[in-house]
Amino acid sequence: MDGAWLLYRAGEKWRHPAFKVRAIVGTAQREAVGIDLAEIEVVPTRDEDDLVGHLGPDPLGPDWDAAEAARRLSADTRSIHVALLDQRNVAGFGNEYAAELLFLRGILPTTPAPDVDVAALLDLGVRTIRTNRDRRHRTFTGVDRPGQGTWVYGRAGKPCRRCGTLIRRGEQGADPTRERITFWCPTCQR
Ligand SMILES: [Zn+2]
Repeated sequence: MDGAWLLYRAGEKWRHPAFKVRAIVGTAQREAVGIDLAEIEVVPTRDEDDLVGHLGPDPLGPDWDAAEAARRLSADTRSIHVALLDQRNVAGFGNEYAAELLFLRGILPTTPAPDVDVAALLDLGVRTIRTNRDRRHRTFTGVDRPGQGTWVYGRAGKPCRRCGTLIRRGEQGADPTRERITFWCPTCQR
């Protein structure tokens, strides 16, 4: 979930400092530059499944299966925030996406996944992640100025952009070693 891949024409000047670069994959015409990547593994194509075979449906993949992702999510009895981050249910949503999608759908992060309309949540998630793919800065509010792209993520103690209630912050995880920070508006999310 860390870092980014940026696409350049071969020889084009990078828009970021070279010390952030962890990997470059290129052809004669184009190159993909990986910056701030936390982990890189290089494997032969035949072993790809060892790395990603356990992943759930991928909303950015050509074979996105919304029904299968919904089935896996709603069968997960943990909280929707934990279930959405488990890449075996659906691949691609990180902590920021979970916080923002749950705000936009008016769902508390502690709600058990089976109690959530997961089809609607996934539909919004897929549209958002596909729109953000082609932007330089991801945004959930539609505004891409720095500090204005999120409704709740990273905004603990600040007023909700919709109702003015102060945004709360907590911690939730599959187990105590994997807790992630959650953000929510106690008025907009029930
Ligand atoms: Zn609110």
